[in-house]
Order: sequence, then structure tokens, then C-alpha cells
Amino acid sequence: MSKDIGDFGFDPQDNLVSILPAVIAGMFGLSITVVSSILLYPPESDLHKYWLITFGVIGNIYLGFYYRFYILSPNKSKYAWLNIFISSIALSTLPYLIPRELNHLIYTLVFMAALTSSVISNRGPSYVLIGLISITHFFQHIKNSSPLNDWITDAGLLIAALITAETIQQLKKISKKQMNRLEIVNEISKQIVSTLDTKQLLALLDAELQNVLEADTYYIGLQKDEDLHMELFYDDKEYFNGVNFKLEGTLSNWVIQNQKVLFLADLRAPIQLEDVNYALIGKPKASMSWMGVPMKGTHVNGIMVIASYRPNAFNRSDFELLSNIAQRAALALDNTHHHALVEEQARLDSLTRVYNHGYFIQKLSEQAKACQLENHHLSLIMLDIDYFKHFNDTFGHTIGDEILISLCSAIQQHIKKTDAVGRWGGEEFAIALPNSSLQQTIHIAERIRETLATIKIDNSNYEEIPVPTVSMGIAVFPDEASEIIKLIDLADKRLYIAKERGRDQIETASAF
Ligand code: GH3
Ligand code: MG
Ligand code: MG
Repeated sequence: MSKDIGDFGFDPQDNLVSILPAVIAGMFGLSITVVSSILLYPPESDLHKYWLITFGVIGNIYLGFYYRFYILSPNKSKYAWLNIFISSIALSTLPYLIPRELNHLIYTLVFMAALTSSVISNRGPSYVLIGLISITHFFQHIKNSSPLNDWITDAGLLIAALITAETIQQLKKISKKQMNRLEIVNEISKQIVSTLDTKQLLALLDAELQNVLEADTYYIGLQKDEDLHMELFYDDKEYFNGVNFKLEGTLSNWVIQNQKVLFLADLRAPIQLEDVNYALIGKPKASMSWMGVPMKGTHVNGIMVIASYRPNAFNRSDFELLSNIAQRAALALDNTHHHALVEEQARLDSLTRVYNHGYFIQKLSEQAKACQLENHHLSLIMLDIDYFKHFNDTFGHTIGDEILISLCSAIQQHIKKTDAVGRWGGEEFAIALPNSSLQQTIHIAERIRETLATIKIDNSNYEEIPVPTVSMGIAVFPDEASEIIKLIDLADKRLYIAKERGRDQIETASAF
């Protein structure tokens, strides 16, 4: 934490500002005591007059010194207790020094002392002060056999002092909570700015939402076509992964379409928005308060939502905070998105836009691990263009390049999103097909061969060129090879056999 909040909820600067009015009020009260004693008592009056003047003057000097040292002291809680001790003694002895007619002065001073101590300390010292003064006043009333009037005034004053002290404590609690929230937001913002990984960013946003907003439910959703895809979804102490829902007619859709904040304090009241229905997501438990803010960036279009099972759970400051977090989240998500794009580019082969050799091997290992865990097959096709050197020599390298591009788009036409294609080198490609049996893989390989044969390419004289054929070797993990290296080796061997056998064919184990 960058800022010292101090023992009692205010930071040093706030303490300085907040204690000053109380000290001035105390000094004013003590000065009135001095002036009243001069005005009320005749010059030849008894000791009372001198006691009061001494009390007022010493009290003022004490407050002046106290203010000075309190501000400079690094250990404010010790000073708070010291003040309680001195004030309690002074205010408990005062009733013995002055006549009943001046009781109102005591009341004013007790009230000021309770107020000051509550500002500078927490409940403990201020309640001790009020308690000690109550006890001494109680015995004094008994000793003097005070009239009921005095008892009632005294009791009223002490109750008022208690309420004031408690109100100040509550205000300080709110202020401390706000400060804590801002510190967390500040701290996490710093980390968010430097985060380039989407997963890490979502974890930070999760921590931020969890710690600064008291929401039972929160989510970050990004629009993908007609759907809202939940990047982060927390509901009733549980996280939900991979949740998608149709945007049409939802509160989220209203926010995204209108790019406006929506704050529904009590969802039991009918929603006054056109074409919006209330839909349950996550746990089968209805939220009562709902707040959604749009998240719009260059690449990102979505929403950040908090909800509660209590009605009227959020206020304006929650709203400001959520808007602030959502704005930064959109920027940060844009950043990570952009970074992911750049990284993706670096993984691709510049001519054919399929994975480069290094990334393909990494992808293949990941896929193999996943298949092993789930007890699935993974098929690998090694593909090489036949007599490509001759093709290049005959028709030129540029047309050769065109063939490579067309071959890759033919491959991509026949594989799934979860499959992977890599340029193994030159005019040799590798295709990984997780969760695909030998039969399915042979079928895909055949279709790639057929599609390639239908490609039409012209030379510079607009004459059609015969498209080269391809040879392929197929191996299946883990049935035929239990390791990635062995799988690649086997598929490569079979590709070589296909070449040996005359090219334009697919070689598998069954062909042996
Ligand atoms: P086969 O595979 O049928 O045994 O004969 P081949 O002529 O294809 O033999 P090989 O695989 O050894 O030849 C590789 C040729 O691929 C050499 C080179 O001319 C061509 N080649 C490699 N990379 C590129 C490329 O990026 N663009 C073009 N146009 N040709 C390439
Ligand atoms: Mg070749
Ligand atoms: Mg080759």
C-alpha cells in the first residue's frame, strides 16, 4: 500500500484537517469559560473565578500544545489515549470548581472533548472519555443532591455526545472503505497496464471486482456475433467457464446496443425498457440489483456487470468505480488481444499462413498430451509435393509459390478448427488431427488430394498448368507410436514409402 491510512481511518493530511475545527471549538469553549467567569463574578469574588480563569488558560495552552505535538507524532494512538486521560481528569474536576449556574459550560466542554476524541481516535478512547465523565458527574450529582433537571440535562448531553461520536466513527468507516477500494484499484491498475496475457488480465480483473465491489455476481462478457461469450463469470461463490448466451432481449444487449450504463436498483420492479426481458444465468437464483457498463475498445465490444441478491445493493460510488474498471478493462483487453494477434503472426509461415515448423511441433505436443489424458487418437499426416523441383524449373518459382498457397487452402478446407497444419520445410507439410481415427484421416487425406487436383492455375500466357500431385504418410498416436518424435518419424517413413511406390498416393500401416 502506497499511502499510510493511519490507525483511525484518516491519513495524516486528513487528520490534520479534521482535528483543527475540533481544537478551535475546544479553545473557543475554554475562552468562553474565562470570559464568563470574569463577567459573572464580581472582582472581589471567591476562588471560583480564579479557578475558572486558570482552567480556561491552562486548557487553551494544553490544546495548542496537543495540536502541535499530535500532528508531528508518528504514534497517534498513544496521543489519543493521553488526551482522553487529561480531558477526563479536567472535565471530571470541573464540576467541583464551579457553581451550578455555570453547568452549561461543562456541558459544552464535555461535548467538544467527545467530538475531538472521536475524530482523532477510534471507539475505545472516545467511549472511555464519555464513560469516565458520566461516572464522575453521577457521583457529583449524588453528592450535591442535584435536582432532576440537572440529571436530565446531563443524561441528554451524554447521549448526544455518544451519538455524535458514533456518527463520526461511521463516517470514518465509510471514508476508510473508500480509501481501501481506491488503493486496491490503483494497485491492480498498475499491474493491468503491463499485462499482455488475457488469462492473467482476467485474473487481475477478477481480483479487482472481488475486492472492491460487494457483488454476489459479476461477469465480463464479449460480444461474438449474436452471442455474449463470458470471459469471466462468478455467481454465488462459484466460477462458471465457457458460458455463452443469446444476446437478443437481454439487459446486456441493451447496454451493448445503446453503449449506455444500466443501473437497476430493484429488479422486483418492472423493467421499463423496450424489448428487454429478464433472463436467469448461472445459479437458479434471481438477482435483485443489477448494474452493467459497456466495454468498448478497438477490438473489444462487451459488457461488465455486477449483480446482487439484495435489492438496492449498489450506490453511485459503486457505479463510478465499475465504469472506471470497465473502461480500463476494455483498453487492457484491446492490448492483450493485439498482443495475441502479433504473437499469432509470429507463429505463422509468411508465405502460406499455416504454422511454422517450431510452433507446429509445440502445438502437436500439446494436442498429444490432451489426447493422452482423454484417451483419444491423434493422427498425423506428412505431405510432400511430387517432383516439385521439376515443377519450379518448368513453370517458375512464383507459380510454385502459388501452388503452395493453394495446397494450404485445400488442406484447410478439409480440416477442423481444432486440427493444425504446419509447414515442415520447403514443400513438405504436416497436419495434426486430434480425435481422428485412421479411417477418418485417410478420408481427409483423399479429399485433400482430390481438391488439389481440381485447382486451376495459368501461366503468364494464360495457359492452364498441370497441378502437381502429392504423396502422404499417415501415423496414429498412441496406437502406432507412443511419443511425438516416433510419430513424426513413422509418418515421414511412410511418406518416403509412398514416394518409392510411385508418388500421388497415401501410405498407412495397412498398406504394408
Ligand atoms: P519428390 O519430393 O517428389 O521426391 O521431388 P521434389 O522435386 O519435390 O524433391 P524435393 O522434395 O527434394 O524438392 C524440394 C523442392 O521444393 C526444391 C525447391 O525447388 C522447392 N521448394 C521448396 N520451397 C519452396 C518455396 O518456398 N517455393 C517454391 N516455389 N518452391 C519451393
Ligand atoms: Mg517434393
Ligand atoms: Mg520435399
